[in-house]
Amino acid sequence: MSTYTNFTVETDADGIALITWDMPGKSMNVFTVEVMDELEAILKQTVEDAAIKGVVFTSGKSTFSGGADLTMIRGMFSMLQDERARDPQAAAQKLFDAAGRMSWLFRAIETSGKPWVSAINGTCMGGALELSLACHGRVVSNSKSVKLALPEVKVGIFPGAGGTQRVSRLTDAQSALQMMTTGQSLAPARAKAMGLVHQVVEPDQLITAAKQMIKDGLKPVAPWDEKGFKAPGGGVWTPQAAQLWPAAPAILRRETAGNYPGALAILKCVYEGLQLPFDTALKVEQRYFTQVLQTTEAFSMIRSLFISMQELGKGARRPAGVEKSEFRKVGVVGAGFMGASIAYVTAAAGIPVVLIDRDQAAADKGKSVSEKLVADSIAKGRMTKEEGEKLLSLVTPTPDYATLSDADLVIEAVFEDRAVKKAVIEQIEAVIPETTVFASNTSTLPITGLAENSKRPDQFIGVHFFSPVEKMMLTEVILGKDTGDKALAVALDFVAKIKKTPIVVNDTRGFFVNRCVFRYINEAYDMLTEGVPAAMIENAAKMAGMPVGPLSLNDEVAVDLSQKIMKASIADLGPNSVKPEHMDLIDKMVDVLDRRGRKNGQGFYDYPAKPAKKSLWPGLKDLYHQKPASEIDVETLKQRFLVTIALEAARTVEEGIVTDPREADVGSILGFGFAPYTGGTLSYIDGMGVKTFVALAEKLASQYGDHFAPTPLLKDMAAKSETFYERFNPYAEVGKAA
Ligand code: NAD
Repeated sequence: MSTYTNFTVETDADGIALITWDMPGKSMNVFTVEVMDELEAILKQTVEDAAIKGVVFTSGKSTFSGGADLTMIRGMFSMLQDERARDPQAAAQKLFDAAGRMSWLFRAIETSGKPWVSAINGTCMGGALELSLACHGRVVSNSKSVKLALPEVKVGIFPGAGGTQRVSRLTDAQSALQMMTTGQSLAPARAKAMGLVHQVVEPDQLITAAKQMIKDGLKPVAPWDEKGFKAPGGGVWTPQAAQLWPAAPAILRRETAGNYPGALAILKCVYEGLQLPFDTALKVEQRYFTQVLQTTEAFSMIRSLFISMQELGKGARRPAGVEKSEFRKVGVVGAGFMGASIAYVTAAAGIPVVLIDRDQAAADKGKSVSEKLVADSIAKGRMTKEEGEKLLSLVTPTPDYATLSDADLVIEAVFEDRAVKKAVIEQIEAVIPETTVFASNTSTLPITGLAENSKRPDQFIGVHFFSPVEKMMLTEVILGKDTGDKALAVALDFVAKIKKTPIVVNDTRGFFVNRCVFRYINEAYDMLTEGVPAAMIENAAKMAGMPVGPLSLNDEVAVDLSQKIMKASIADLGPNSVKPEHMDLIDKMVDVLDRRGRKNGQGFYDYPAKPAKKSLWPGLKDLYHQKPASEIDVETLKQRFLVTIALEAARTVEEGIVTDPREADVGSILGFGFAPYTGGTLSYIDGMGVKTFVALAEKLASQYGDHFAPTPLLKDMAAKSETFYERFNPYAEVGKAA
């Protein structure tokens, strides 16, 4: 038998070949060119070897596979760029062939004449699920940790290796569309109920059950290759389909505002594919896949949401030469809204944590947040009782600072007040050893200033969490003037341990994320004062791709917090730092109308008792003379939101606050949901070209104010036709290509 790098093949006495996918040196199996070459060779071997009666395909890792290695797709982008200039026709053909490689390999398995069963022992994503769908049988381990999904749409592409055709022939079109356009994960039972898998068995029965399917005479023919096959629901010309298809594009548009070419392609593939013979349908899918691969959205989303996110998560910014941190104990001081949740995520990562507040009752109240989160997880079946008890046993609430004496890291989350923070820093430093790193979760106070209260500013750093801490994937790590490498390494190791993605930024008021968010909200204030109806403001923002409208976001943050921040800016930076119209609006909302946001049930929205839904406060239209909708260009509103945020991100780069474009991109998507289809704030600018962006900003500046004026950096880049990823090439130092 041949040997393979990524697979083992063992044939048993019954003539069933067990293929185990286990890539050396990788924590997860992924499809690479080498994997496909080997799989092709294995297929040939199993077809040619008469002794082999059938094949069981499984994984040797705890997860089945994460799908295609997207860096392979990045390789296709580079190939396209290089070849296009020489011969656009040949480049398109090459891309088409590369885009179809997986699809036709899977089709070859499906039509090989021997039965294949996929034994799915762990999470199975993307291309790996598409391979499984091409197998004649699918058996899944009944385990909480197993998820099945086709999540490609989340990185700007779609399941292009037969996924759109097989899912829509195994389950009804509506469920198929729902699954693929949202990229949702399915538990094994749900996948079985949808008809995507044949059996769900106990993990130790997996291989036996898979082999049994073959022994029981599994036919090596896909249902759609049988004569007279009908898709569930009967295809697209049935009364049932007549309910679905006319509405489907409208629903998709409502959900995506037409911003995601990958999502639209799924709709087209399923609709057209269901009317065609299978091989032609696969070809149609391949064509759409090739088209989508050439979009700016796919390029930018893969770069930011897959490659950069992974690189940052793996410590791209971690200083080399500092030993990996061990966290035997973490201290969290301030058991309020943020501290309580920080303690929870720390314990959830298996780290013992002391949660300190001013008295035992306050500390206990903080721990009760963990108790509630654990109870919810147990109720939803996401955690066992034992896991919950273990997690809670790691959280020790106390008012006693002496318990910090052996902590490796202390995070303070006390009131946002310089004097309170100063006292707490001194109290903590009186008990912690020299080696302990001190992190502040401040959202507005510059780290360098806070570090002045510290005896060891090199050990002092900002670790800025976002609320709700247990859900938000981003953490902003802020370097003070004197912050040293050890503090940065410890902070990044901690963020990795709690499974969040870090961005590292230099010290500035508002750091990176909040600076951008303020621009978003300020633009909405501008629009309100111009008389743009509030509903148009909110809808335009969503059409631009923002997950939450700016007024709704402001209500969540609290309108009186905005007032506090604006007043602090005026006090620290002078009266010109805040537009008087904005201050008037917010003073009126808070001081006159007591509309403080969601927390007091009234802000820009009204929040009636559930189950009624929130709705925009009708009184808003009486505050400013309303412009008729016909005089307002929605495209311009959309541009204003994205451009003002992107300009702020560019300023942070120009000021040296953000030094790596990947961080501005990933930070903007994970931190506040900046239109993900753009790939983030700087990819938005690069995607349209800096020259085009500068022209757009200048046009907006002439109509809506100087805050749209392009900065010197942008003008310089426009003149030189540079992109952010060229000028601030994150790979330059290590000599890799971007
Ligand atoms: P909070 O008022 O809910 O909690 C602060 C806690 O600190 C309270 O429980 C208080 O009793 C405790 N505390 C005050 N003085 C103390 C002392 N001397 N010793 C021990 N405990 C003390 O506030 P919060 O919203 O959790 O904010 C905490 C910090 O996190 C602030 O710096 C804030 O800017 C920052 N932050 C807040 C958010 C947010 O969304 N609320 C987001 C990011 C960062």
